[in-house]
Amino acid sequence: MLEIESYRQAAEPLVGRRVSTVHAPDPWYAKGGTTVEQLRDVLVGVRIEATRRIGKLMLLDTDGPVLGLRFGMTGRILVDEKAPIEALEYSSDRNDPAWDRFGLSFRGGGSMMIRDPRRLGGVELDPDESRLGPDALVVTKPEFAHVLSRSPSPIKARLLDQAQVAGLGNLLVDDILYRAGLAPQRPANSLSDDELSVLYRAMRRSLSTLGRRGGSHTGDLQVERFVGGRCPSDGAELRRDTVGGRTSYWCPEHQR
Ligand SMILES: [Zn+2]
Repeated sequence: MLEIESYRQAAEPLVGRRVSTVHAPDPWYAKGGTTVEQLRDVLVGVRIEATRRIGKLMLLDTDGPVLGLRFGMTGRILVDEKAPIEALEYSSDRNDPAWDRFGLSFRGGGSMMIRDPRRLGGVELDPDESRLGPDALVVTKPEFAHVLSRSPSPIKARLLDQAQVAGLGNLLVDDILYRAGLAPQRPANSLSDDELSVLYRAMRRSLSTLGRRGGSHTGDLQVERFVGGRCPSDGAELRRDTVGGRTSYWCPEHQR
């Protein structure tokens, strides 16, 4: 999600431009009932009005439909042929135009392109924004506490659920729980008020620190994410468990 926020910022110069041509070569990349034919039909001539982001979903408001862009783990945006992030943790550093899945060209020049080697992202017209919870960068503490206190699911599963809080992925949640000193499989509704406060602060800190460092793969735990890896703060051997369906690294010594 931190990566997507940097993509959104990179896309801000598109505001005010009018689409001249649509590059939509890949039917697989059109999602949620949208077809490549629709993309080509309805987007030509529209003016980009604003860029927004909810969680991992980037939105381009236009004077026509809202265009929803998802990048998966390997997609990158190029605006006027420049990429805000050159390398992604799970992606290739090579630049192959065969990976260009969706793009727009604008009257008067310039372009936007999604380059995605593994095709894990997608494009959708008028995506259902109501299916996403409040974005993690703006969720208030009462909203956050409400989301957690209502569920006996593991904290990690709850934080990964984009309908509850939007934007937190696997690495970010492991970093947040590491900072908060909370075990990923603790039932969400077992947290005390103090623990909820600690967790909320850890989330804020994690988002700002990793955002500054350049992405969700820059957490302190990152280099220890292997079997036998050790806790950077107390040296205990990390545990590797599947929680919320995702591989989770956590410290049994200080995460309770
Ligand atoms: Zn530890």
